[in-house]
Amino acid sequence: AKSAGGNRFELADPEADARAITRHGLTTALPTALDRGEFFIEYQPLVHLGDGSVRGAEALVRWLHPQHGVLSPDRFIPLAEHTGLIVPLGRWVLEQSVRQAREWRDRHGGAEALGPLRINVNLSPCQLTHPGLVQDTVDILERTGVAPEALCLEVTESALIGADDDLLKPLRRLAEMGVDIALDDFGTGYSNLANLRRLPVSVLKLDRSFTQSMQQFPADPVDLKIVEGIVSLAHSLDLAVTVEGVETGAQAEQLRLLGCDTAQGWYYARPGPPERLHELALADTTA
Ligand code: C2E
Ligand code: CA
Ligand code: CA
Ligand code: CA
Repeated sequence: AKSAGGNRFELADPEADARAITRHGLTTALPTALDRGEFFIEYQPLVHLGDGSVRGAEALVRWLHPQHGVLSPDRFIPLAEHTGLIVPLGRWVLEQSVRQAREWRDRHGGAEALGPLRINVNLSPCQLTHPGLVQDTVDILERTGVAPEALCLEVTESALIGADDDLLKPLRRLAEMGVDIALDDFGTGYSNLANLRRLPVSVLKLDRSFTQSMQQFPADPVDLKIVEGIVSLAHSLDLAVTVEGVETGAQAEQLRLLGCDTAQGWYYARPGPPERLHELALADTTA
């Protein structure tokens, strides 16, 4: 950054400098981090709002950087998208997560007591345009013996706004195979609600901002109406509604009353190691 030259808009910003240096360092270290085995995945339970049972988990990637410690995806996913590493990284996350789902299934002895735990994996827009997506997914499911119905791929609403048929084609093929597609961060992208019918999605993930506004009691009446409207539209289109960022019992109760199906958030559990999800799911059946 420039040093202060009498212009208050050019004051040196040591924090911005530090951020830029770190960003540069991370970008340099990123391409080899996958080979060095520095990424790991945490799992956050998805809980049925009606009966409180654990139905699955969302896979959330982290980078254990040798100097900076554990980095959150917001720090490196944009860099990975920019450098193209997101394609192999995304494939790695998908394979690890599906393998994990298989392991939970096996450890649960056929999953009869639990019902199959589903696994949600985030897809970056760059992966959507990558020609290998469908084949990679098919290969991973075949290698692991996991049913397509146990997998849900999350795509942000903004990635699909104005999406043409070329972009939707791979998602359609996956949906036809039985893979669920979820629209992530829903409600922030100002997409045309009628447009939903065109998209091969079966789940709406309501953005955390709606959950946050359910914290006040009574909740903001306009937000209540919006969520009510989204839920009834979603259900009329046969879409399930998942809410994220649930931090309190009051939020969970409000969202349950509004008809939301599944919830995720710190109120239930923070993202954690796979053993933790296993314990939560088991505790649930013995409770
Ligand atoms: P997201 O897909 O919207 O994931 C939800 C984020 O909310 C996660 O942040 C999660 O840890 C956080 N969260 C969960 N419950 C609560 C809560 O009760 N309160 C609050 N305040 N936050 C909660 P995280 O793990 O830092 O991930 C951030 C974003 O990084 C994700 O947002 C997703 O867009 C992206 N991401 C994570 N893993 C992957 C991945 O494997 N591939 C891609 N392409 N993106 C990923
Ligand atoms: Ca997500
Ligand atoms: Ca989200
Ligand atoms: Ca988000």
